[in-house]
Amino acid sequence: MKICKKCNEKFEGKLTFCTKCGTMLYPYVSSKTTSNKTHSVKEFQYEDWDPPSPETIYRKIKDISHSNFRFEKAKGFYSSELLRIEENLNKKVYCCSTCSYYIRPECYLKNMTVYPKAICKSFELQP
Ligand code: SF4
Ligand SMILES: [Zn+2]
Repeated sequence: MKICKKCNEKFEGKLTFCTKCGTMLYPYVSSKTTSNKTHSVKEFQYEDWDPPSPETIYRKIKDISHSNFRFEKAKGFYSSELLRIEENLNKKVYCCSTCSYYIRPECYLKNMTVYPKAICKSFELQP
């Protein structure tokens, strides 16, 4: 049996994607059997702390290209907002749980369960 982690729908047979929402299906492991199976659902969970640079987040929020940002920086650019972003990263305020791709408990982009306090380079701050 397979499960869609988005709609919680279970499927029999050889389906790879959910027929309702198109999300990739995972082998269904009931909580009772998780501990003695070699492939538990937890093994698919993303847990890394691999943040983008504060500058990258800033550029995404402001929609500034890399070259424009470099140009501004060369002119002695300073932004308190950039400092705030750095602080939010250090405090882990920015993480999967505040990312636009996060639909608890999954990352829409990676199509897998993610630890809410993890982060990856594709982080996009929720609007
Ligand atoms: S895209 Fe967002 S939710 Fe997905 S792993 Fe990266 S930071 Fe987490
Ligand atoms: Zn689905």
